[in-house]
Amino acid sequence: MRWWKSGSYACTDCKKKFDFESIRYGSDGKTIRCVSCHEQVLREDQKKREAEAKPKAAPVMSDVLKLICVECRYKFSYRKGSRIQPVCPYCGKSRLMIDDTTADRLVEEVGRIRDWEKACRSGTAS
Ligand SMILES: [Zn+2]
Ligand SMILES: [Zn+2]
Repeated sequence: MRWWKSGSYACTDCKKKFDFESIRYGSDGKTIRCVSCHEQVLREDQKKREAEAKPKAAPVMSDVLKLICVECRYKFSYRKGSRIQPVCPYCGKSRLMIDDTTADRLVEEVGRIRDWEKACRSGTAS
């Protein structure tokens, strides 16, 4: 004969009553939850931990672009925010591609360089 009363454990979260087999203790050892609420909590904890594990600040190297010259395939680094238009140090051409970034960034950065090229041409190249 079972010494506990069936359904004598109330889940902290959903307030329903469960058998001892159907409840789990929380990480503090006091909180009791039914299996489904317990799993829900575990999932949320996992999500929280994953969110915390992500670096909040962008890596320092992100202000440096790796560029490839379209003309001669020369690879070089270029510091973002510089006022000088990026040109290939090898052949001096300004047709450049960005190396090793994601597709989204590539489109974004190349677009920015093109705008800049346009501005340079219309502004100072008279
Ligand atoms: Zn529950
Ligand atoms: Zn080049």
